[in-house]
Amino acid sequence: MVVILERNIRDDDKSRVRTYLEGKGLKVREIVGVEETIFGAVGHVALDIREVQILPGVEKVIPITKPYKLASRELQKADTIVSVGPVKIGGHRITMIAGPCSVESREQMFETADCVCRSGAVILRGGAFKPRTSPYSFQGLGEEGLKYLKEAGERTGMPVTSEVVSPTHVELMRDYVDMYQIGARNMQNFELLKAVGAQGMPVLLKRGIAATIEEWLMAAEYLMAHGTDQIVLCERGIRTFETATRFTLDVSAIPVVRKLSHLPIIVDPSHAVGFRDKVSPVALGSVAAGADGLIVEVHPQPEKALSDGPQALYPDQFERLMRDIQALSPVVEREVTRLPELRTARTSLADVLREPDADASREVAFQGERGAYSEQAVKRYFQSEDAVPRAKQSFRDVFDAVLDGSAAYGVVPLENSLAGSIHENYDLFLQYPDIHIVGEIQIRIMHSLIGIPGATMEQIKRVFSHPQGLAQCAKFLDAHSSWQRMSFYDTAGSVAHIARENDSSNAAIASSEAAGVYGMQVLREGIETNPQNYTRFAVLSRENGSSEREPDKASIVFSTPDTPGALYDCLKILSDRKLNMKKLESRPIHGKPWQYMFYVDVEIPREQGVFSAAMDELSQKSDDLRVLGTYRAMT
Ligand code: PEP
Ligand code: MN
Repeated sequence: MVVILERNIRDDDKSRVRTYLEGKGLKVREIVGVEETIFGAVGHVALDIREVQILPGVEKVIPITKPYKLASRELQKADTIVSVGPVKIGGHRITMIAGPCSVESREQMFETADCVCRSGAVILRGGAFKPRTSPYSFQGLGEEGLKYLKEAGERTGMPVTSEVVSPTHVELMRDYVDMYQIGARNMQNFELLKAVGAQGMPVLLKRGIAATIEEWLMAAEYLMAHGTDQIVLCERGIRTFETATRFTLDVSAIPVVRKLSHLPIIVDPSHAVGFRDKVSPVALGSVAAGADGLIVEVHPQPEKALSDGPQALYPDQFERLMRDIQALSPVVEREVTRLPELRTARTSLADVLREPDADASREVAFQGERGAYSEQAVKRYFQSEDAVPRAKQSFRDVFDAVLDGSAAYGVVPLENSLAGSIHENYDLFLQYPDIHIVGEIQIRIMHSLIGIPGATMEQIKRVFSHPQGLAQCAKFLDAHSSWQRMSFYDTAGSVAHIARENDSSNAAIASSEAAGVYGMQVLREGIETNPQNYTRFAVLSRENGSSEREPDKASIVFSTPDTPGALYDCLKILSDRKLNMKKLESRPIHGKPWQYMFYVDVEIPREQGVFSAAMDELSQKSDDLRVLGTYRAMT
């Protein structure tokens, strides 16, 4: 049952409720949510819920109707975020796990780890104990294999996962893996589930080949009842009459599970389809359907693999898949999980957070009210529940906060795919030579029509939003011509405004998140005329991120002498060195009428030294060259 506690329950009442429930033989778990604190009480006990209802400090008692309790959304509304070493799974993330089916040798593991890590995988997989259909097939290297897996993970900074097939291996594997994997064939091996659950470590739980979703969630319940709440569900295809693929991927299991359970769900397209040419399309479909990540088999030489070679991707196929997922992620409003080490030691928020006086440094400044699209950008980029978004009134305030150290980072929009550049921010870079760009992120802009709770569309007379918000929803607003369009300084601010006015004839256009922040109601989602609406943000820091491991993009700014062909000469340097230009924009120089600065974004080639040589040459041909920052491109 779910016992919802009163907001201001006294500590002694709270412990009395717990003691009462435990006295009845129930296991009690406290879940502290944003809105309320609850006790989840489970166990094999017949209890009249009215007896709990009347205890002091209890607001409400709700029975859990599903046979799985701890795994149910009825018990916990918020998504569970599973931590595997430094890597998180769940929430707005897409977390990529990759590696071979089996660990075959140290060299094979090192080579695979290096290439999948470079492409963007953040957890390494590799089987050491293989549950094979035939007793004559390769059974895995056992502990020796676990050693190679762990070494390969350590060398790249990736945590590792491997399948556990027997309760007798649980202890041994604990020293080697960051997440146990329970295979499809063992999903209902209850003794194994109990032994693994008792470790309290993260577990990747595959769906059995003939298991219903309910049986699968009951297996998760076993793990949870025995001591771990760190479970990642993995759909890997079920047995059907179809023989064209190895199994049949149940894509619909993704939204079904997301509704029934708070546990993250990832997909294994490799075992589902069994042939490498079908892995990537099915992987992309899974991400589109809402998967929290993927586990993909990759082998440097699949034709020589000791198991599952035909379904293993070549490294370059995996690289291509990662790029496609990267491109898809803003569409599904998610961010591909990165290894913290992939950002510079200095720019990694995770590292900053480890510093003793971390409090001020956890702040990330953004312009706008709470719930602004910029705040979403902060949360997605830092992928950390620990980052503290700090609202600022103006873009200049964001730059100032980063400069004076009251915020560790700032996030400002640079351009919108429909409305173009936010010139004010380009100009601010010139005025703040000590601020650098250390990252970028793009957010899909999805506007919602928001009213006060209980309001209906029919009651609306006025719609408030930033002029951009109103313009981007013109088609929807045209269909409601009696509504008055009211310009406001900020989208999220317009939601705060209608919340204050508390008038059911007022509506606002902003993100659904903003509605949540102010306790307002979403009346219609996705009302923007053009769904291809993205805003690109720059992440600002006082530290220069140029020591970042493998930055692949740079933003530079320069002016040119007033001579024929001067801009051509500058751009030719980029062309000669094959630096791909992503953007060119000119801005007037303040105080020098009719003179211009040129802002250029370029890709940094992999070969060492090419970019810095180009910059050396450019500094001679141009005036005032400044590298605003080098960083990892997010698309
Ligand atoms: C594996 O991941 O290598 C594996 C054997 O998977 P499954 O249990 O899904 O068949
Ligand atoms: Mn396999």
